[in-house]
Amino acid sequence: MKEKKIVVAIDGYSSTGKSTVAKQLAKKLEYIYVDTGAMYRAVTLYTMRQNWISQNSFDQEALEQALVSIRIRFEINPSIGLADILLNDENVEKYIRKLEVSQHVSQVAAISAVRKKLVALQKEMGKERGVVMDGRDIGTVVFPDAELKIFMTATPEDRAQRRFKEMKERGDVVEYKDVLENVKQRDHIDSTRKDSPLQKAKDAIEIDNSSMSLEEQFQCILQLAKEKITEISG
Ligand code: C5P
Repeated sequence: MKEKKIVVAIDGYSSTGKSTVAKQLAKKLEYIYVDTGAMYRAVTLYTMRQNWISQNSFDQEALEQALVSIRIRFEINPSIGLADILLNDENVEKYIRKLEVSQHVSQVAAISAVRKKLVALQKEMGKERGVVMDGRDIGTVVFPDAELKIFMTATPEDRAQRRFKEMKERGDVVEYKDVLENVKQRDHIDSTRKDSPLQKAKDAIEIDNSSMSLEEQFQCILQLAKEKITEISG
């Protein structure tokens, strides 16, 4: 029996650990992993560097006009075996996860022209299937026909705690209350925006991982993926 390849869409609120489990799953299945949040973050970094966005202002039109010249792609980093994100050929991995970028990314991601560009790239990356993609609209917009859709949730406090720990480990100077506020603010903007709001696809399986270990979560999703692959491979 020839094993068929599937698309695994992992959506959910920020800092639910989507990317951790998505990376593990892609490695195990030997699939491509695509972190779509990184793509929105890279466009946000570009916008910030141009001084088009700040606490009180956002030159949306300037960004929309510049979109044609913003090139986003991934390149395998051989030392970790995973892809790093490149913004106009510059590796920007180390900049895009900073709190300043997190504070603006949901505004940038709410712009339809930005979404249109990035969704087209995402569809292209998954067109051969064999992909694990995480984000907010993968199961609803990017791959509504994904064979397996997961929707991850956890309390805002659990998620902020996780993100805070990660940032501290990286050496970022941040306060827990700011991280919590950012998590809540992004939840709000992401789920109330007009274009492709964050919502659970009807056929997605919801996993609340507040009280699950990473290993339990991984085993649960791996099992679901294996069942799906067996089912469609006939
Ligand atoms: O996944 P991550 O937290 O890195 O995503 C950063 C932001 O990018 C989200 O808060 C959301 O505003 C946006 N995003 C999105 N659609 C996706 C992935 C991310 O709107 N598919």
